[in-house]
Amino acid sequence: MHYISTRGGIEPIGFAQAVMMGLATDGGLLVPAEIPALEPARLRTWADLSFQDLALEVSTLFVGDEIPRADLKALIERSYATFSHPEVTPIVTAGETRILELFHGPTAAFKDVALQWLGNLFEYLLEREGGRLNIVGATSGDTGSAAIYGVRGKERIQIFILHPKGRVSPIQERQMTTVLDGNVHNVAVRGTFDDAQNIVKTLFNDLPFKSAYRLGAVNSINWARILAQTVYYFYAWGRITGGDTERRISFSVPTGNFGDVFAGYLARRMGLPIDRLVIATNRNDILTRFIHSGVYAVEDAVHQTLSPAMDIQIASNFERYLYYLHDGDQARVCALLDDLKRTGRLEVSAERHRQAQADFDAVAVSDAETLDQIRATYEASGYILCPHTAVGVRAARDLPEAVCLATAHPAKFGEAVVQAIGCEAPPPPSLLGLLEKEARCAELDASAEAVKEHIEATLKTVSAA
Ligand SMILES: *Cc1c(COP(=O)(O)O)cnc(C)c1O
Repeated sequence: MHYISTRGGIEPIGFAQAVMMGLATDGGLLVPAEIPALEPARLRTWADLSFQDLALEVSTLFVGDEIPRADLKALIERSYATFSHPEVTPIVTAGETRILELFHGPTAAFKDVALQWLGNLFEYLLEREGGRLNIVGATSGDTGSAAIYGVRGKERIQIFILHPKGRVSPIQERQMTTVLDGNVHNVAVRGTFDDAQNIVKTLFNDLPFKSAYRLGAVNSINWARILAQTVYYFYAWGRITGGDTERRISFSVPTGNFGDVFAGYLARRMGLPIDRLVIATNRNDILTRFIHSGVYAVEDAVHQTLSPAMDIQIASNFERYLYYLHDGDQARVCALLDDLKRTGRLEVSAERHRQAQADFDAVAVSDAETLDQIRATYEASGYILCPHTAVGVRAARDLPEAVCLATAHPAKFGEAVVQAIGCEAPPPPSLLGLLEKEARCAELDASAEAVKEHIEATLKTVSAA
């Protein structure tokens, strides 16, 4: 399997190289040169596979022969052994609502599904080539801890995660800073999330620094993350239909960077019988407005909501969809992105807009509706939704058959839950006792120079140890 850029500026590369590259060197996103197609007969045989066996089948299609099957299998087993539920991503019902629980990993949010696998994949590829990698990222909450848990203790990887000091929830902060492995380096930046993000961008744009220290990213643009996320769509379909390829299933997906719902789109393009895919957004509704109008227009500011992991202005995976919406026409993708960069908006043709509406439903959900949904589901069934999941459940009100993706454990977002139902959800074991644990974190001014010096100094001590 070969990978190319949505902008057409690179020669085709293999899977391993695509994983290590992350963002394409022409600034585009990497996509497979063609999407593998699954025959219904093949799908039927997948219907009763375990999550891990399904992950092996799906990833084999994208990895090709670059990783021997036995190695790939071991890597996947290791990645999902950290999940506390034997099914990895079980389906439960809350009253009439079907919920696909994606939060049984070590940090209680769905990003673990992809980042546990990506961490092991990095380690495997680095070992094979004898290389090292320094991951640098900024987080407003969930991604940082999931990335840290994905690579903690891995010899060939150091990870630096910047968070805005005092601006992530205490639980989220503690999830990061209580990981004491020698390769994990937390930095609290005296500033906002945007400051932290800008520092990371500055470091990545400093090409001599980037290549001297082999900086890597773990944000949601890595193709390996998308691929891991397609697995639970196949899994849910198999569990619900028992392999009846005449039966199509709809999904409602709480959406921020468009990674999760894009994985569903990919699964459908591979041949999975998916009916509707609902993009569920909060007040940051650029994607919903796009599906309704055909115009993708950036607003002045990010709005803070009760579902903070979806408080995103520009969805980083959207470019992949633009590419497929235009049948792989890279020149067209470049022209549209150029419009976006120059004017803050892009508009697709009427015909493409009709196609987008055929591909997705989209609903924006307010904070008031989110709280109302948490309350309604709790009253009807006793089940507690996290605010992100509640956005998805609300958005699927007109599709009672849809499977709603539960992206975080409700105990991670206690404040919103208390606001809705007056009590907190009981925490899973992974979130217990966090506030009492020993923590380690550096604190720096919001300056790229300061962070750069900190990284250099830290890497010197690490390599001396
Ligand atoms: C990251 C995240 C989302 C959004 O997922 P995307 O792939 O960015 O669309 C939704 N809910 C939670 C809890 C998250 O952490």
